[in-house]
Amino acid sequence: MILPIVAYGDAVLKKKAKTIDKDYPKLNELIENMYETMYGAYGVGLAAPQIGLAIRMFLVDASPFADDDSLSEEEQEQLKGFKKTFINAQILEEEGEEWAFNEGCLSIPDVREDVFRKPKIKIQYQDENFDTHVETYDGLIARVIQHEYDHIEGVLFTDKLSSFKKRLIKGRLTNISKGKIKIDYRMRFPAMSKKR
Ligand SMILES: [Zn+2]
Repeated sequence: MILPIVAYGDAVLKKKAKTIDKDYPKLNELIENMYETMYGAYGVGLAAPQIGLAIRMFLVDASPFADDDSLSEEEQEQLKGFKKTFINAQILEEEGEEWAFNEGCLSIPDVREDVFRKPKIKIQYQDENFDTHVETYDGLIARVIQHEYDHIEGVLFTDKLSSFKKRLIKGRLTNISKGKIKIDYRMRFPAMSKKR
């Protein structure tokens, strides 16, 4: 089932999400619905707060990046098969010199900006079976993970922009929060859930 994606301006996107355990109700169904929602919106990542749940879970499928011809064959191969569910993730280390990448977000349609992040991360997380893993990633995979990880920390990529850039996109962000935007996937706008 495709779930509505929460739009910029909703308080759930600003919350630090909570850890979950094996007993979380209907977890497998939720994960399945989140993948369906992500693919339905042509996303490469989706975090639980984006469907309105402040829990520490996000999904990544980096395969669409594999079509980028500027990447080496090895990089393309690595991206192609990368599909993972991250539960209770903690980034343990981030290192290297920050690099810019043009990021977007399903909760903030049509806004894309360069965001600076460190290239290499070490992350601990649990998979769907609650087995714990510690892994290191770099490049685009690290980038998507960092973006999704920020969501479970209550941070959006627009929070990381300079105050100048923030001023420039302020009007567009307000429009998104009011639902004044054209999108081709299901969304839920904060203005719609408010009482008059
Ligand atoms: Zn996002």
